[in-house]
Order: sequence, then C-alpha cells, then structure tokens
Amino acid sequence: MTTPESPKRVIGVDVGGTKTLAVMVELADGADAPPVVVDRELVPSAAAPGEVLAPIRESIRALMGRSGVTPAAVGIGLAGFVDRDGRIHSAPNLAGLVGVDVGSALRVELQLPVTIDNDANCVAVAAHALLGRRADCLVAVTFGTGIGGGLVIHGRLLRGSNGFAGEPGHMVIEPGGHPCGCGQQGCWEQYASGNGLARLAREACAAGKAPEVLAAAGSLAAVRGEHVTRLLDRGDAGALEVFTEYAGWVALGFANLRVLLDPDVIVVGGGLSSHGADLLALVERATVARFPSAAVGRRPEIVVSPGGPEGGAIGAALLGAGAVLDLHDGA
Ligand SMILES: [Zn+2]
Repeated sequence: MTTPESPKRVIGVDVGGTKTLAVMVELADGADAPPVVVDRELVPSAAAPGEVLAPIRESIRALMGRSGVTPAAVGIGLAGFVDRDGRIHSAPNLAGLVGVDVGSALRVELQLPVTIDNDANCVAVAAHALLGRRADCLVAVTFGTGIGGGLVIHGRLLRGSNGFAGEPGHMVIEPGGHPCGCGQQGCWEQYASGNGLARLAREACAAGKAPEVLAAAGSLAAVRGEHVTRLLDRGDAGALEVFTEYAGWVALGFANLRVLLDPDVIVVGGGLSSHGADLLALVERATVARFPSAAVGRRPEIVVSPGGPEGGAIGAALLGAGAVLDLHDGA
C-alpha cells in the first residue's frame, strides 16, 4: 500500500432521533484505501424542533476545534426523504428538520461545502467504500424504528427520478395490513422494523406464547424489541419463537430485493445489527425454506454494516466530499 500523497479531512454527521454522531474522516487521493475515522463526537439530538441545527453545529465545531483542521467538506445524513437538491420532504423522527434548509444555513455559518442525504444512502455508500470491489451491487437496509434503504448499483448510488429511490421499508408486503405512517397499509417496515418486532412480541405475549418476555417488560404495553433480544441471549424459548417469526418477515423483504436486484451484498445496519449474527442465520433458514426463487442462484453475502454504528456518518462524509465520484449519478 502506498502512502497517500495529499490526505484530506472531511466531516460526516449522522443525525439520529436521539443522538447525533459526527466523525472526522481522512481520505486518500486517488487511492483505493478505505476511509479512516480519526476522531468522533457524539452529542444528544435536539429535543425541540426549533433547535435542530444546534447539535449538528456543535459536533462539527468540536471536531474542528480538537484537530485544528478545516475539513474540505461536510456531509450530513438524516432519516427522511431527501430530494436531489438536499431538501427534506419528510422525516418522521426528525420533524423539526422538515422545511429547514439545513444545507444553506450551515454553508453560510461554516463557510464550507455542505451536502445533505438520506441516512441509509450514507450507510450504503460507506459500505461500498469499505467493502471494495466485492460490493459492486449492494443493498443497504437499516433496521431501527422504521426501515431505511440505500442501493448502490454497479458502483453508483441509485437516486431515482426524485431522489427517493431505495425505500424498501415502504414496499407493501401485506395488502390491507397494518397502517403505516406513509399512508399505505402493510408496508414492510410495519413488520420487519424494531417497532415491528415489538408488535410481534406483544402479540405473542397476549397469546401466552412468550411469558418471560412479558415478565421482563412488566406489562403488555411496555413490551419492546429489546426485551426479546435480551432474552434471546439467554436462550429463552418464547423470545426465540418471536425472533424466528420476525426473521421470516425480514426474509420476505430480502427475498423481494434478491429477485429484483440480484445483489452481491446485502448490508444490515441500524439498531438490530447488534443481533445481526442471530438474525441473519434465521433469515437465511427462512429464505431457503419459503422463498426458493430468491434462494436459488442468488446468494448475496449478507453482512452487518462494515462501518458499524459509524457507517452513516462515514458515508455522509464521503458523499459530502464527493470523494466517491463514481457513486454520483452526475445529476
Ligand atoms: Zn409505509
């Protein structure tokens, strides 16, 4: 490996519902070397809609102050529908950001190029950079409160006509099913997100199938996904039954993505990726048993996001820098 001749620093910020993570990333000019995180800053996200910019600004300034370096660019990833011009059209967990021109405000304040993108697009871009050539066609799916997605097809981030491509969470997989915040019924994220896991757990508890999960939560209304995953670690049979059913819903969505895109890699990100190994084993079993068309001849590598919890921030930095020019669609 050669030493990069002109290392560049860029900052990426991942704005979550509860926490905002900023990373300072070092890039190598013209090299295939992966980006390296040299510093990070984690701050609570704004509680009030009017204060949404403050933690973003604070975290960027903290990194700049500690390093004494002015970054070449800043990229910001957030959970929401971000159009091709970086405008936020909807952000269910970041309501204060809708209609705010985050990019322009920060550009003026910081006197730096600032780009805004969807957080799952950022996870996809980071995974593509970190996995290298084996991820030519890559689907990133982030499992949190909802489900986010990002598609890198033959090395390019797929944005679609309006910038809203790659939203598998709103594929309808159960017609007439649970209502979704997007206005449809039966969206994949109603079943396969963290909230979906919680609902499956409550249904199992109500039917008397997961007594330990119910005991851990204290009441039916208090049952959350983490009660299942915590008991899963202890080998509880009820938790395993719930998680196996949940994995079937995840597999259903993956099966659709597999037949549609035949990806080299499916990257799993978000909160549930901490139980990635358990989940992926169950998903693979369900796929082989129930979705033979998706299983035969299509064997994508399914991996937990290689950037871990920093994947979104790393990808935001890369998009901000334009350091992954091959990923841009030129528009
Ligand atoms: Zn939906």
